[in-house]
Amino acid sequence: MEQLEVYEQRFLQVRRNIEEAAKRAGRRPEEITLLPVTKTQPIDVLEKAYRLGMRIAGENHVQEIVEKKQHFGDRVHFHMIGHLQRNKVRQVLDKVELIHSMDSLRLARDIDRIGGELGLCPRILIEVNVAGEESKYGISVEELPDMLEQLSSLAHLRVEGLMTIAPFVENPEENRPVFRTLRQLFIDNKSNPFHNIEMNVLSMGMTNDYQVAIEEGATLVRIGTALFGARQYTTA
Ligand SMILES: *Cc1c(COP(=O)(O)O)cnc(C)c1O
Repeated sequence: MEQLEVYEQRFLQVRRNIEEAAKRAGRRPEEITLLPVTKTQPIDVLEKAYRLGMRIAGENHVQEIVEKKQHFGDRVHFHMIGHLQRNKVRQVLDKVELIHSMDSLRLARDIDRIGGELGLCPRILIEVNVAGEESKYGISVEELPDMLEQLSSLAHLRVEGLMTIAPFVENPEENRPVFRTLRQLFIDNKSNPFHNIEMNVLSMGMTNDYQVAIEEGATLVRIGTALFGARQYTTA
């Protein structure tokens, strides 16, 4: 099979799985956004995905976003899904439509300030480390109320929802309580008094566990391996 056909089959399969998971949960498939994760994939792979209808893509390194944005311009809208270093904010802010990985107040303040300087209203999700894993970024569940209050005073920032990276597990069912917890936080904070904070996007679920995440209410799933195969990491 041609590589393009391989990707086409995988996109079809993932979309079918999304549809079925949505139906199992009594949800409409259109409520769920598929964010293909293209990190480490070369431009020609993204071009193939573009031909198959991909218009948004998740990346986790600023340098890669800069390069890919330069190539694609407005044809593809990039989402920053990896930990964002504060000294890279200025470089990336006008090249992404959503930052999923807002994981500290200091970072949020930088995004807000630099967004203001550049005349932008950066859209962010708050990354919550639901499972409390040492190795992961994100604020704790307990920190969320205070974080929302602090973010509400930032004039340029727009909070669009929540994101989590669930633990790596053999059986995706093990992550169901993690997704359920984030969904409950999402619901609980939907009606809040803050003009710049909305709960529209619930970003959870990856290749291993997106069907469970959808059953538990995800509105956006971030999928790399199931679409593009195993990532090729270069030792750079
Ligand atoms: C790499 C990555 C993904 C995609 O992971 P797969 O298991 O390949 O689907 C999703 N979210 C984040 C934050 C990632 O870094």
